[in-house]
Amino acid sequence: MSNHIGSYMLNEILYILSEMGISETIGKQRTRKFALKLVRIGKRYDCNNNEILDSIGEEIGICYLCLKETEDIEDGLCQTCRK
Ligand SMILES: [Zn+2]
Repeated sequence: MSNHIGSYMLNEILYILSEMGISETIGKQRTRKFALKLVRIGKRYDCNNNEILDSIGEEIGICYLCLKETEDIEDGLCQTCRK
């Protein structure tokens, strides 16, 4: 069993960050750092990275599988993880 509700709750927080323009204000680097902190919190509560970063991972630039920071993300995955 994993914590799907908790995962999507954290996902919503990432969307709010984007919708309110906070990610734009604090910049890409700190947005990614913030997202990775949420992922780390999620881990403690049995959440899934693919659900936390669902769709928004592409915008932020973090691969849900290896958590690499990159612009090249398709379907949530970086180039290496897509292979
Ligand atoms: Zn990856």
